[in-house]
Amino acid sequence: MLFAVHPSECDWAEEAASTRADGELLTELEHARLTAHLGACADCRMFAAAAGAIARELRGAPLEQPDVPVFLPRRHRTPALRVQAAAAALVATAVGASFAVGHVLGSSNRARTATGSSAADIAGLRADSVEQHLLAMLSHGGNSGIRFGTTTAL
Ligand SMILES: [Zn+2]
Repeated sequence: MLFAVHPSECDWAEEAASTRADGELLTELEHARLTAHLGACADCRMFAAAAGAIARELRGAPLEQPDVPVFLPRRHRTPALRVQAAAAALVATAVGASFAVGHVLGSSNRARTATGSSAADIAGLRADSVEQHLLAMLSHGGNSGIRFGTTTAL
């Protein structure tokens, strides 16, 4: 029984036949769809047979042994704890710096002007905002990899 087959169905069938030839399992629906397609499409049936034959031949072939010894370089990994400690130190430094800048600018401004806001007030508020942001990041340490315990150890 032959009937028209949509070309995209052939693309899907070739991919599914390759997947099956690689030893991967198809779902029951995919298996039924592939079986139906292979029953109707001679080109895909030949492709599936060839893919299966090649896969069996490759699996049955002996493994090649290299003639010369192969040495792979060792990977140098940075321990995760070091990265977390460095991140915590960076955050602690930023918090300390913003706190110090906020205090210096805030106290010098208070000495010079008795009324109204100034650039130093704004800078102090900005530093406080940065500090609040960093503290919020620290409180969400589980997501950012930053932990309070590491910060106090530094
Ligand atoms: Zn086909």
